[in-house]
Amino acid sequence: MFGKLSRITQAISLAENQQQVLELIVSKVCSELEVEVCSVFLADYDLNQFVLMATQGLNPEIIGQLRVDFNEGLVGLVGQREEPIHLPTASLHPAFHYVEEAREDGFSAYLGVPIIHQRKVLGVLSIQQKQARQFEIDEETFLITLAAQISSILSNSETDAIIDDEQRNQLVRCINGLPVSSGVAVGVAKVIFPAHDISSVPQRKTKNISAEIKKLRNAVKRTHIQLEKMSNRMKGLISDQERSLFQAYQQILGSEGIEKEVEEQINQGFWAPSALQTVISRHIRAFQSMDDPYLRERAQDIEDLANRVLANMMKKDTLEIEAEKGTILIAEAISASMLAELPLKNILAVISLTGSSTSHAAILAKALGIPAIMGLDPCQISRLDGKTMIVDAYNGQLFVSPDPTLIKQYEILVSEEKRFSEELEKEQSPISMTEDGTPISLFMNISSGDDFKKARKLGAQGIGLYRTEIPFMQQNRFPSEDEQAEIYKEIMDGFNGMPVTIRTLDIGGDKHLSYFKIEEDNPFLGWRGIRVTLDHPEIFLVQIRALLKASASSNNLRIALPMVATLEELEECNRLVNQAFAEIQEELREKNIELKRPEIGIILEVPSAVFSLSSFVKRLDFVSVGTNDLIQYLMAVDRNNLRMKNLYSHFQPAVLKILKQIIQECEKASVSLQICGEMASDPLAAILLIGLGYRELSMSVSSLSKVKRAFSYFTLAEMQQIAEKVMLLETEAKIKSELLKAMDKQGLSGLIRAGN
Ligand code: PEP
Ligand code: MG
Repeated sequence: MFGKLSRITQAISLAENQQQVLELIVSKVCSELEVEVCSVFLADYDLNQFVLMATQGLNPEIIGQLRVDFNEGLVGLVGQREEPIHLPTASLHPAFHYVEEAREDGFSAYLGVPIIHQRKVLGVLSIQQKQARQFEIDEETFLITLAAQISSILSNSETDAIIDDEQRNQLVRCINGLPVSSGVAVGVAKVIFPAHDISSVPQRKTKNISAEIKKLRNAVKRTHIQLEKMSNRMKGLISDQERSLFQAYQQILGSEGIEKEVEEQINQGFWAPSALQTVISRHIRAFQSMDDPYLRERAQDIEDLANRVLANMMKKDTLEIEAEKGTILIAEAISASMLAELPLKNILAVISLTGSSTSHAAILAKALGIPAIMGLDPCQISRLDGKTMIVDAYNGQLFVSPDPTLIKQYEILVSEEKRFSEELEKEQSPISMTEDGTPISLFMNISSGDDFKKARKLGAQGIGLYRTEIPFMQQNRFPSEDEQAEIYKEIMDGFNGMPVTIRTLDIGGDKHLSYFKIEEDNPFLGWRGIRVTLDHPEIFLVQIRALLKASASSNNLRIALPMVATLEELEECNRLVNQAFAEIQEELREKNIELKRPEIGIILEVPSAVFSLSSFVKRLDFVSVGTNDLIQYLMAVDRNNLRMKNLYSHFQPAVLKILKQIIQECEKASVSLQICGEMASDPLAAILLIGLGYRELSMSVSSLSKVKRAFSYFTLAEMQQIAEKVMLLETEAKIKSELLKAMDKQGLSGLIRAGN
């Protein structure tokens, strides 16, 4: 069975579009399983019907015409029950519905399996045979496996269809993703791509054909030189026969080979990288369809070669980052460092195929106040290039080539948003309290590029979280004590007189240092945060010493320890901090400087620490809840896994219960408590957190005004009532809807949705 399956998947991998995939499936299934009929019906959710999209064995004239309601016939039944239906004599089943034009008279045996992607029924795959018989169990499992394999292909092409289809009613058709930094924008897409990945190059036209041809010729020339050098370097290391591969590359590239074809393509008006991509895809497809496995493998060589030419064309190994005014930037993976490099003033919004709300790029986008959607439904983003689009980063919706009415509506929302944020900024009061005057302390989570002055004007009362990984990531070695001290001093002095919480190095998980590789199967459950630095006290001590030295003039340092899970870890940290403190204190005394002992706290993000909190708090000055990781570990859900995006929510009942338990423990021990995870930046969640008892919230600067506005419309008693009510609710959906209702009632939906 495995051989049959892989033959089918290999065949469909070469298909150019969805219709070809479906046609290949029905014909290959018939030949591999030796059955007389195979059909694929796909769901049309606009009309609640299944449409026959491909068949072998039934009347081909009704392809695209035959439609059955979701609750009609055997196809409808398979879709409704979401399980295979297997009948030796289909016509005897009460759901059987005879369709004359299908010409299915005489087919007795029926086996239908649903095609499901992420709980959504996309269609039904069925086989039929004249002879009344029971299909073998092997045949059933074969069909189930095939349906599961094709479900993701079909789901991708569903998204691609939205990109291509300019006529459809775009009011309801959009690509979905995770809203990671709220806001709305209308602009033109610009896809940026790694300069070494030919497959992600978008199709662009050019007016300057001669410049593009020159670009191509130079890149080819440079590639020839590189190949020559490589070949020479390999002399004596590999056999002459193996070395002939480089010659083969040179020939493929030569003026009569690919170069000529690419030139022809450029002459038709295409930008050189697009022209190269078109030609290379043609060659790759030709190699991939060859029967000889050796020749099939050569497709990889062609792709490598093209990647090299492309990199030479782009002249750099990173990205092509030029953006005109009104750009919506799109990339496969937008990283925090890419965002830091971008010409931000022209960028209206950012879209990344991968990433999630707590990825560092998302956190930075939020800090910069740029609307962003990440974790998009799988699609070929290169095809979005140059299209007009609407980004609704409140709802995580991307409307591609929307109709003018929708554009107009969103343009109104964009200007309303602008007015609203100007209004919020004008408030710029450092006072932050509930409607009835309970003070709420707001702090800032900072990354590089934040505006301290603005944050202070908006009422930030200090820094709630400074992630020290950023300066470590910007280097190619561990920064020295003095280098670190300089960075930390600037931050502490910038907030003189206010507390500044600086977290010790939290690498591992998804945060990597290029010069200190950690490779593990389960990085989020492995060596990260304090586990790494306790195993390397020399790294930890240098950082603590730098922090202490830097705090000498402002004396406002709070040290936060990430990922603490056990009491032993905390005690060891305390011992090392004491050791460093004694040393620095002595050094400074010689200069007549008195050093204040910093406050020591933990980022509470490992559930085991919550259950040991009563012991922890005796050895701590403060606790700061890191909901980003706490949710991940509590719900056993990777914070960056897009499939799990519905499970990873700060409104899960279990999350609320653990947050309540944390308050109770901290109140009992009178230890200072704050929340620094992304949850605190969500105005909807902030209401709930205050109602639960949190009085100190730390968030990105762009969220400060919105969160402040949200709780200033409620009295403390109202928020407490809301919290009490939602604590009794049993599902995430109910909790969220209750909170939304409360916001709507106060006329505050503009804080969480597009529009005011
Ligand atoms: C957290 O886990 O909530 C947190 C604040 O830290 P980070 O997002 O850097 O892991
Ligand atoms: Mg964390």
